[in-house]
Amino acid sequence: MKGNIKIIAFLMTALLLSCMAAGCAQPLLRPANTDTDIVQQTTGTDTVDSPPVQTDPPVTTDLPETTAPVMQPPETTAPAPMQTVEVTGGGNIDLSPRGDNNESPAGTYAPSALMYHLILEQPYTELTNLFVRPSEFEDHLQKLCASDCIFLFADEYAMTERKSIILTFDDGYEDNYTQMFPILKKYGAKATIFMITSKINTPGYLTEDMIREMAASGLVRFESHTHTHPSLTSLSAEDLAWQFAQSGEILYNLTGRYPQAICYPGGTVNDFVIGEASKCYQFGYTTHNSADTSGCDPLALSRVRVSRGMSGNAVLSRLGWG
Ligand SMILES: [Zn+2]
Repeated sequence: MKGNIKIIAFLMTALLLSCMAAGCAQPLLRPANTDTDIVQQTTGTDTVDSPPVQTDPPVTTDLPETTAPVMQPPETTAPAPMQTVEVTGGGNIDLSPRGDNNESPAGTYAPSALMYHLILEQPYTELTNLFVRPSEFEDHLQKLCASDCIFLFADEYAMTERKSIILTFDDGYEDNYTQMFPILKKYGAKATIFMITSKINTPGYLTEDMIREMAASGLVRFESHTHTHPSLTSLSAEDLAWQFAQSGEILYNLTGRYPQAICYPGGTVNDFVIGEASKCYQFGYTTHNSADTSGCDPLALSRVRVSRGMSGNAVLSRLGWG
């Protein structure tokens, strides 16, 4: 009898030790192989590095077509209160973010989304196309404002009575605050930043203070670009849920609101990912390069890629407004 007890105790000890060695102690807290360092990725990402590290090649392929093409415009949100923002070179002026004066957004125009990454005069990687010059971005806003369109946040996607545009910025680079934000304030336009939350407070990316200030202005909303920017099509449902939850919690703690939209890292998405994303978000944005979102699944919306060198008129032309 004592011999049997000793054998059982030995076997249980051995089992416990092997389990601990295999990392079983916390199997659900952190998914394996998803804490990707964007700087070290070699393919399939639309991110760039902070200087002076060499970076990844740009995304060159569109995502595969997805099913469920029927679009159902969501309920629109109530107008935001009048915002008072500090305008560089001037005093305090009242600016109602463009788009919020749209009392009856139901209509016949499907919004178009523009995809930006960085607004910076000098590229610091070989991905020069992603570095739109500040003067070019200002030209875009001038021409868009002159075209009598309204600006929407990414989570305000809905059919509108007037032409509408959604400005999106991927990854959350530092220049979105230092370069883009002053121009945005000057024109009272609205923009959405899809933030990689693991990059907050790291070199080349937005800090917590920058995010708080931009969100408080009423002109910028922060939405999910996941926590670590992995290729979502390779993740399990559990790992996807972890990415969404981490991102959501961090953005909520900084801005007071949970993200309602997601931008799929690198544009990689499939029906499974969309299904899982639908549990957390109303809208999903891809890298499918098209101005026409009218036939899109709300969780697989296309965007127009904006490149360095594009004039405001070129953007209008790309939107079919020229
Ligand atoms: Zn990205």
